[in-house]
Amino acid sequence: SNRTFTMIKPDATGKGYTGAILDQIINAGFAIKAMKWIKLSAEQAGKFYEIHKERPFYGELVEFMSSGPIVAAILEKENAVADFRTLIGATNPANAAEGTIRKKYAASVGENAVHGSDSDENAVIEGNFFFSGLERF
Ligand code: ATP
Repeated sequence: SNRTFTMIKPDATGKGYTGAILDQIINAGFAIKAMKWIKLSAEQAGKFYEIHKERPFYGELVEFMSSGPIVAAILEKENAVADFRTLIGATNPANAAEGTIRKKYAASVGENAVHGSDSDENAVIEGNFFFSGLERF
């Protein structure tokens, strides 16, 4: 598919990296098809990450993702899911390639600056979680 879903996470918005990260995403060839700046409640963050609820870091993840504002966006580009994951780099910034968004802006495996969908199917599910038909094109 040609679409993915991303969030700029609270660590990155809080440190003032939003503009630089959006710039890097756009310069990499992704078109923004929907975008919003919002703060999730713990309940909403818990629902979004429900797939991880048995993981040991779930509580920490939900607390972190509801700790400050995020930017949620639907992005379009050929081969969007895979190319976006290449652009952001490994989950743990210590393992992320030079020049990737996580290498540049992430502090740790938990507070890792950005989210990128891991499949076409999840990109649709995640985009639908945040955006109505009116809010995208
Ligand atoms: P994302 O889904 O956010 O793009 P990912 O697919 O690279 O991340 P997952 O393994 O699916 O990584 O984990 C989802 C999110 O949970 C990570 O982005 C990170 O914020 C958090 N996380 C993952 N592993 C840990 C950990 N060991 N400790 C704390 N938080 C973690």
